[in-house]
Amino acid sequence: MTERPRPSQSEAEGAVRTLIEWAGDDPDREGLGDTPGRVARAYRELFAGYDVEPREYLERTFEEVAGYDELVVLRDIRVVSFCEHHMLPVIGKAHVGYLPTDRVVGISKLARVVHGFGRRLQIQEKLTAEIAQAIQDILRPKGVGVVIEAEHSCMTLRGVNTPGSMLTTSHLLGDVRDDPRTRQEFLEFVRGK
Ligand SMILES: [Zn+2]
Repeated sequence: MTERPRPSQSEAEGAVRTLIEWAGDDPDREGLGDTPGRVARAYRELFAGYDVEPREYLERTFEEVAGYDELVVLRDIRVVSFCEHHMLPVIGKAHVGYLPTDRVVGISKLARVVHGFGRRLQIQEKLTAEIAQAIQDILRPKGVGVVIEAEHSCMTLRGVNTPGSMLTTSHLLGDVRDDPRTRQEFLEFVRGK
């Protein structure tokens, strides 16, 4: 993670105050008095991905898998991210799977990896690839598949204004990409069949 010195909480609150004024409102009116503080604290939480190294979540694995060598797929992991072009929310779902070799990871860890990479300024394509590559690098499975379907507020609330349109991205590695049977099985899990 970058080690840039961070502005203080009060500097962040000052920036929010500026945005309120710039939007045309009075940051000193009663209803807005505590808003800069709340916004800064909300941002701290929404951008918590900068304070974690998601790859570390994958380092504790279980080797007693009793010969299990079929796909492990966790569907419908909520994605909350922010597009790096507009700082507007990207909300959707991730489906993450891998074909284990001799070890598996706790399933909650897959969700934490999605959250860790998601809670940063992102583009969906990069988010999808980062999740897949982290699983590949650390678990060294035979294959990995990540599919993300998400709605981009910068498109659905403004700009071209296309509510309900979803962007789908996928990143497939190893046997999930190259073995037709495994690939099809993964994609069927993702579709919920
Ligand atoms: Zn955007």
